[in-house]
Amino acid sequence: MSQETLLRIECIRCGASAGQAPFHAGCPLCAERDEHANFRTVYDLERARPAFEPEAMAGREVDMWRYDALLPFAAGEAVSLGEGGTPLVAAPRLARRVGVRVLWIKDESRNPTWSFKDRSNAVGATHARALGSPALVVSSTGNAAAATAAYARRAGIPAIVLVAKSVDPIMSGFVQSYGAHVVMTETKPDRWVMMKHCVEAWDCYPTGNYQTPPVGLNPYMTDGYKTIGFEIWEQLGRRAPDWIFAPAGYTNGLAGIFQGFQELAAMGLAAVPHLGAAEIYGSLVRAIEEGSDVVQPARIDRPTVAISIGTSQNTYQAVAAIRGSGGTATQVADEEILSAQERMIESEGMFPETTSATGLAALIRELEAGRISRDAEVVIVMTSTGLKSLNVTAHLRPPVPMAHSVESFSEVLKATYGFNPEAE
Ligand SMILES: [Zn+2]
Repeated sequence: MSQETLLRIECIRCGASAGQAPFHAGCPLCAERDEHANFRTVYDLERARPAFEPEAMAGREVDMWRYDALLPFAAGEAVSLGEGGTPLVAAPRLARRVGVRVLWIKDESRNPTWSFKDRSNAVGATHARALGSPALVVSSTGNAAAATAAYARRAGIPAIVLVAKSVDPIMSGFVQSYGAHVVMTETKPDRWVMMKHCVEAWDCYPTGNYQTPPVGLNPYMTDGYKTIGFEIWEQLGRRAPDWIFAPAGYTNGLAGIFQGFQELAAMGLAAVPHLGAAEIYGSLVRAIEEGSDVVQPARIDRPTVAISIGTSQNTYQAVAAIRGSGGTATQVADEEILSAQERMIESEGMFPETTSATGLAALIRELEAGRISRDAEVVIVMTSTGLKSLNVTAHLRPPVPMAHSVESFSEVLKATYGFNPEAE
């Protein structure tokens, strides 16, 4: 059963209807032309609009299902752990440091498995349960894996999680702790081969991309990310900021935020903000610069601290969101990411996953290049917590020193941390 406001599913590129076909793999017509694209939901906005009036919203729970008039399932039928309703934290010191008028941090680490992926997986698990899928399946070494594992449990469905050999043992342990069937493959591409087999031969429900070239998420799950946009809009007093920056691997998050603001705009409730995509290897940057609709793979020429978006090839949905919002794509380097993470901690006491600091790194780059006004109001989406990438930054921290007496305690504070409690 799905919502009465949901009219149809259509291709984001050619507009063709998905009909009743399984829509995980994207549009078959566009794939034939080698212009791969995924599908989106289309809602009856006139019918949904009353649910977005302040009086209607006042009585709703503060979670993502308060916007269920524009989600494929009603709050009452959702597989939910209370995802969404995350704070939009003012960051005045950070704003001064980077030189922009107003800065907010949308803290998605407050979700049930501590990342924004809980929003899409709540919808995915609800959908999989409605379809009677035998299992959820995902290829991921991080946030998506944890969210899939948790929501599978909540739905009472098994989860299969494919990880690469390079997986962080903290993350594989985390995912296994939810009871997921975690399986390692020799190479990263092998994970998609196995995942495709799960979907096509066993009818498992994919909660992430498995297509080559990638197209991104299915339209129901993308809808989960629209609620990040709806919340920002409501938290700012029913208006849009000038810019929203976020990490962009396959750019599912920003694509959902874009669609959410497009729907708000069509209902006459907000403008569409400019979207800033932070990338590692530059495939999206190149497509935007060249004005191309087709994202070509970039060369993975180095490892990155932003593991969650360490992908060589972005998606058409990213191009559509950046171009459609008058936004930017920015390639950021490891030093910039680590420096941005440090600034978020130092200035505001917020600890992002390394990947989640890429949005700030991109904003800083764009401000310095003069491509964004210093008078702008900007939201950074902090997609997940720094606890997820502790191993990535372990070498940056000093070993924890031992104090054997009060005297040595004060020496240790001075020597290791430069803190002198006796100095005035
Ligand atoms: Zn199409």
